[in-house]
Amino acid sequence: MSTAQSLDHPVPGALRLPRPAKVLLVSPHPDDIAWSLGGTVARVAAAGAAMSALTVFGRTSYAPGSAAHGTSAAIAVRAREDVMWATATGVRLHRGDLPDASLRGYDDDTEMGAQPEPAIVSEVADRLTPVLRAARPDLLLVPLAVRGHVDHLAARSAAEYVAAAEAPDCALLYYEDLPYAAGVDHSHTEHPVLVDVAGYHAQREAGVLCYPSQEPHLILPIIAAHTSVTGGERLWGATASAAQRLAELLAAAPQSDQQPDQRPAERGSGHRPRRAPVVVHASAPADQTADSPLRRMESQPW
Ligand SMILES: [Zn+2]
Repeated sequence: MSTAQSLDHPVPGALRLPRPAKVLLVSPHPDDIAWSLGGTVARVAAAGAAMSALTVFGRTSYAPGSAAHGTSAAIAVRAREDVMWATATGVRLHRGDLPDASLRGYDDDTEMGAQPEPAIVSEVADRLTPVLRAARPDLLLVPLAVRGHVDHLAARSAAEYVAAAEAPDCALLYYEDLPYAAGVDHSHTEHPVLVDVAGYHAQREAGVLCYPSQEPHLILPIIAAHTSVTGGERLWGATASAAQRLAELLAAAPQSDQQPDQRPAERGSGHRPRRAPVVVHASAPADQTADSPLRRMESQPW
């Protein structure tokens, strides 16, 4: 495996990011970003970037830490948790309405490693396309789908397609999705980015605790162990320039979670992370044209 990009000494002559940079996070389920990228999100926020997230599969009955587990009431429980997390992190949240794997007939065994249905990949692309057009991100962070959860694969496939069609200049990076990536030595590209989150553990834990229905006391040790093994939160750039762009963004962030008013770079900058909850319900565009991503995707061999 090649050496991870240095976050604090970007390569001279790298692409310059606009300020504030815009980052879009693709989260298959509520909680995936908090689980996998909690420290990175806190550090990106500290760098003054504007963050948006799309939670793709908003319909679910899975909530083992809640009395709503196994019922349709789980949808509202998990939506509230997602909003709580977005409020805490300052991320503008878009909520997709697609049914997760458990509602599409998969179980704990069959959801791992199955190829996603072409129709659901197209549906994900339909939700992501308007979000991407609105957010116009400089960086797009998508699940790597380590060990192949079918919903994560669907999100990744759709994001790759939409990014290529709609935002070819956007830096595409893949994040190691937890808990699936725990204990897996998974190399993806030659462009790993290891994010030092040592100063952001408290913020990451607070984000994970926004999801009590997902039994965070079980997931926190897994996250900590993975960070210990990898040395941080690891992403993989689709290209060297994509990895460099993330490195450049993070170089603007302090390595510890100082209070905002202790950060000279932010004082008076107007780039502080947003704290008010902003939730947008992501739905497919009303008028699908013959040339829409959905139409063009129907012939793709997913
Ligand atoms: Zn997930």
